[in-house]
Amino acid sequence: MNTFLDKMKAETLDDQTTKRLHSRILELSEIGFTEDQGSKRMGYSKFETEAKKKIINWMKDVGMTVRTDGAGNVFGRYTGHDDSQVFMAGSHVDSVPNGGHFDGVAGVLSALEIAELWHEENYTPAYSYEVVIFSDEEGSRFNSGLTGSRAFMGLIDEEELDKYRDPEGKTIDEVLGNIDSNRKKFLATDGPDYKIKMYGEIHIEQARQLEEKNLPVGIVSGIAGATRTNITFRGEAGHAGSTPMHQRKDALVQASEFIRTLPEVATSISTTAVATVGKMKVSPNGVNVIPGEVQLVVDARDINEAQQAELIQAIRRHAEKITAQSEVTVDVDLTTRITPIPIGKDVIAKMEESFRRQDQIPVHLPSGAGHDAMSVGTKHPITMLFVRSIRGISHNPEEFSHISDLRDAVLILKDFFENFE
Ligand SMILES: [Zn+2]
Repeated sequence: MNTFLDKMKAETLDDQTTKRLHSRILELSEIGFTEDQGSKRMGYSKFETEAKKKIINWMKDVGMTVRTDGAGNVFGRYTGHDDSQVFMAGSHVDSVPNGGHFDGVAGVLSALEIAELWHEENYTPAYSYEVVIFSDEEGSRFNSGLTGSRAFMGLIDEEELDKYRDPEGKTIDEVLGNIDSNRKKFLATDGPDYKIKMYGEIHIEQARQLEEKNLPVGIVSGIAGATRTNITFRGEAGHAGSTPMHQRKDALVQASEFIRTLPEVATSISTTAVATVGKMKVSPNGVNVIPGEVQLVVDARDINEAQQAELIQAIRRHAEKITAQSEVTVDVDLTTRITPIPIGKDVIAKMEESFRRQDQIPVHLPSGAGHDAMSVGTKHPITMLFVRSIRGISHNPEEFSHISDLRDAVLILKDFFENFE
């Protein structure tokens, strides 16, 4: 099998941008490099800090002024004509325990590359431009997620912080001590009042729609909000040998029918709706016992709020309809509902123009996963580009994207900022 380093060696580098992205990805990959050539850079670890430091030096080399906030987020500012508002672009540099070298890193280095090109072209953007590195996006430290960007936007409170324990049992206070911060500084956020004209994030797709379409870059049409619904099917446990078929109240038979037909429920709502049952508990869970109870969780997502609401309702009706024809009863309980983040139609239209100017075909893709843009998007306008992922693989050492695809994304986002008013 081709390893990360083999694949990097085989890349075609035909301009300054591909060369710079290539060498920087390699340099960052050395920080927390794993045995199977993956990346291990947990949020707030010494490796994440080391990666940030390396990028801070690159930021300074291109003339940026750099500051760090209480959540460890790094902001490099490149001065534009109007300094009262900013264009912002970035992502994260932490990884899952054995992840790849593109998730997050691709977005930060691409954002920085825009400044590199402006610097070379002696170009001054209309507004000041900030490259941001958000801390602990993956949330593998505290079993959270989007930690830095949510802190920046004031979406994390004391109560949530109190619950944080890392794998070694350390509290947030102990962990923040390592980065010269503390709880008070962490909670003192300025994101909501920040004058962000537009936030842009380039991220690997982590799916294979672009590969299927044979396109390097796509426009994210919205970021799906996850919902969780706990569904409990209640029948009656009984002897698997002595209970005749017509007398059974088998909870698992009903649950199975529910799961089997769930894909149709999602596709009936929209082309972007998805629904999954990935967790289920059968009771009593014995080989010779008719299942008396099944608890399962439906993870369902869509990119706009109205469709998401319809999806939740449809799942409820679906469970009730299936059990209505049996003696099994059902309880449906919505436990989590994260608001999807829409991306403005006008923003998407402007992005399409940038695609065309850069000789690229604009294609729309929903984002099923959360990204830092999701936090920023709660208060500010955002745009996102996905870059083709080889075989859609991510959170895995095999994760890979072609450097030339990244370059294409850089040129599109750069064009977008240059033409955004
Ligand atoms: Zn990511």
